[in-house]
Amino acid sequence: MINAAETTPDDSLQPAAVMPIPGPSDPMVLPRKAGTRADGKRVLIGLSKAELRSALADIGIPAKQINMRASQLWHWLYNRGVTEIQAMANISKDMRTILDQHFVVGRPEVVTAQVSNDGTRKWLLRFDDGEEAECVFIPDAWRGTLCVSSQVGCTLNCRFCHTGTMKLVRNLTAAEIVGQVMLARDALGEWPNGAASLPALPDTDDDDDDRPYIPGAHNPGNNYTPEGRMLTNIVMMGMGEPLYNFDNVRNALQIVMDGDGLGLSKRRITLSTSGVVPMMARAGHEIGVNLAVSLHAVTKEIRDEIVPINKKFGIDELLQACADYPGANNARRITFEYVMLDGKNDSDEDARELVRLIRRYRLPAKVNLIPFNPWPGSAYLCSPPERIRAFSDIIFNAGISAPVRTPRGRDIMAACGQLKSASEKISRAELDRRAAEKELGWV
Ligand code: SAH
Ligand code: SF4
Repeated sequence: MINAAETTPDDSLQPAAVMPIPGPSDPMVLPRKAGTRADGKRVLIGLSKAELRSALADIGIPAKQINMRASQLWHWLYNRGVTEIQAMANISKDMRTILDQHFVVGRPEVVTAQVSNDGTRKWLLRFDDGEEAECVFIPDAWRGTLCVSSQVGCTLNCRFCHTGTMKLVRNLTAAEIVGQVMLARDALGEWPNGAASLPALPDTDDDDDDRPYIPGAHNPGNNYTPEGRMLTNIVMMGMGEPLYNFDNVRNALQIVMDGDGLGLSKRRITLSTSGVVPMMARAGHEIGVNLAVSLHAVTKEIRDEIVPINKKFGIDELLQACADYPGANNARRITFEYVMLDGKNDSDEDARELVRLIRRYRLPAKVNLIPFNPWPGSAYLCSPPERIRAFSDIIFNAGISAPVRTPRGRDIMAACGQLKSASEKISRAELDRRAAEKELGWV
């Protein structure tokens, strides 16, 4: 039996991973034990194959069965999308009972699900400890992009970003990051209802599709076509700075990219960083996905003000790290994100300086111009459309692609930089008070 006390705390959840950044507030990262719940059961989603094998060994599964059991579980978890161990039909009933005593499949709880008038969907998710984060799905004609969060809140305080105003910050575990992808597939009805490699199951449901009903799995009926997969791309652009939660983001994306797992190509995954320079090379080597960099300004003065991590890692250091990013080439360009703030960073001169910098560092680059998305209390205005167009033209005329990103999901506060969960309502003082009460045994 695994209980909470026996599991090792996840070091990457500790504040040590985060460097203090000067800013208007001083958020903290809460430590949290990964993968266990109040009932002591271990969450299966998010365990690597090696962790899964050792979790099975821990509960006394005989050594000669471990590889087989691990493959069975992996298949049910990531190919079939079951949400209950009892739904794993080709595992014996006795074995399912044993597994049930020690494990749960694991999904975040959906607190609210909203759909924008442009089809964008946003889920507010609650994790086992009650913390919350948001996750957004953006459907397009040719692809469907899931915007995944890496932290509850963010320790950085980019002035134009709603998430950056949250006081409470905790790293998400690998389970919670993979869980967002699983949940989106659940909600979009994307799990196959039968795989060729498995024995055929009878079609016991009433959806008339000749596909078996799998208890505990989501049964999408006629909506599912393996070719027409809706969730095709993932961007680590939700709440949080992914490179301040490196290990969990890497472990989660490795499961997402695993050919026997969720099987998404690394070319369809993009990680966005505000510029955590010391982690960029590792991200390239150990994760290898596309890189997006939140540049947003071309002078020290303005970038220091709006992206405060710039005081720690300046523009030159950042662009050099981009030039050194493993795998970047003309076929796989680095995306520079640039939020258009009226009168702040949107002059012709700024655009020309951006071109100069990209050339100077010989970067295989494209620029994504993001119209500023307002949120309650935000201090900026979006640049007017003609200013954005003029800015884009200067970059485009220099031979660099500079599309303007169409804002999506603004009506449900799901657009870039608008994400924020209720966790901010707990102040540091309140947390200290709760910790003191706990120590006194009041709760
Ligand atoms: N923390 C990471 C990834 C999450 S933010 C990062 O900063 O890169 C995803 C993108 O949205 C970033 O480029 C971010 O700067 C941008 N963004 C934040 N607030 C915004 C807002 N209010 N309007 C438009 N874009 C915003
Ligand atoms: Fe954090 Fe990114 Fe928002 Fe900056 S833009 S506060 S790094 S989530």
